[in-house]
Amino acid sequence: MKARVKSSASSSRAAFPAASAAPAPARGGAPGVFPLLAEHAHEQVSMFFEPSSGYRGIIAIHDTTLGPALGGTRFWSYPSEEEALIDALRLSKAMTYKAAVAGLNLGGGKSVIIGDNRTTRREAIFRAHGRHIESLGGRYITAEDVGTSTQDMEFIRVETQHVTGLLGKSGDPSPVTAYGVYRGIKACAKVRWDSDSLTGKIVAVQGCGHVGYFLCKLLFEEGVKLIATDIDPQRVRAVVQDFRATAVTPDEIYGQAADIFAPCALGAILNDDTIPRLKVTVVAGGANNQLAEERHGDVLAERGILYAPDYVINGGGLINVNAELHGWSLERARNKAGEIYDTILRVFEIANEEGIPSYQAADRLAEQRVAAIAKVKKSFV
Ligand code: NAD
Repeated sequence: MKARVKSSASSSRAAFPAASAAPAPARGGAPGVFPLLAEHAHEQVSMFFEPSSGYRGIIAIHDTTLGPALGGTRFWSYPSEEEALIDALRLSKAMTYKAAVAGLNLGGGKSVIIGDNRTTRREAIFRAHGRHIESLGGRYITAEDVGTSTQDMEFIRVETQHVTGLLGKSGDPSPVTAYGVYRGIKACAKVRWDSDSLTGKIVAVQGCGHVGYFLCKLLFEEGVKLIATDIDPQRVRAVVQDFRATAVTPDEIYGQAADIFAPCALGAILNDDTIPRLKVTVVAGGANNQLAEERHGDVLAERGILYAPDYVINGGGLINVNAELHGWSLERARNKAGEIYDTILRVFEIANEEGIPSYQAADRLAEQRVAAIAKVKKSFV
């Protein structure tokens, strides 16, 4: 029997990038849903509840000017429903920007399922989520994220075709992501040293997981001297053996005398504690949400450190998902990720022209593309 799903969906549409008239906050302290949507001009938020499985899902759609909203499903034990909603809103907005700078015809969306992601009752939960996605008629396409797996995507696929990251399809996105990061690092070198050759440069890599390992391979092949760390000793050992990296402890990575620091593990690693310890002049890596707070992007700029905005340089993962949606070959996906080189150059150009830090320049670039396409779409055809 198919899962029955109940909807309490609500929606609003607002202009990108800022809502013109923000609804008044709800009475009683906590902000209401519409003020939260208005804050960053989200188009829609949808909530479903399916009582038999206990499925509680929120889908946030930030902006669909460029195309259907795409973003993964996060399965997490949020301390409160409000925190779950805010996370979905924040992450969906980030997806709009990521797709926009990657030159993809996708909007920004994200969904969260509230609950313990170690549950074994996955089929009913993810099929309920699939029906929730299906109810949006293709406005939102999902993929894997924290707490979900390829198998979960297969359950979703039973109920809707608006899902990517399926078994046997585009597969592990990390090689494409790592290639995009590598091209982005070369663009940084071009800006910093007037040559994009990395031969002889020293790169300190934090995290030797999927992205980190493939990045180390590409850097090693270009004659880079690697310094690497990971909390998992086996993963460091692999890059020491395969790419002659020098291993350091996780805490030592920040103070390495290197040219480039490449964060490929966690978020929020550029903060008040770590930035003063950096001896590099370029920070460019694949991790998401590297700046603990936006102001840390200003601190990096003040210190003369060239920072490649994370969602620009790690766009290869999204490019890989887009490749699956459109049946692109791996080569075409890789070539598209290679364009990150030019995008990073453009970001630094805008930062220079406008005298703003690179993270703001990246936002500008994304907003410019969305605004330009919104104008193109104004005509009746
Ligand atoms: P992964 O889990 O395979 O690798 C992360 C590695 O970081 C692991 O080996 C882990 O042990 C290590 N690590 C964790 N905490 C650490 C610490 N404090 N110090 C040093 N190492 C630590 O993940 P991944 O797929 O390689 O992704 C890495 C980062 O890139 C994440 O931030 C992810 O969100 C981002 N990202 C990945 C992709 C992709 O295609 N996989 C795409 C875009 C962004």
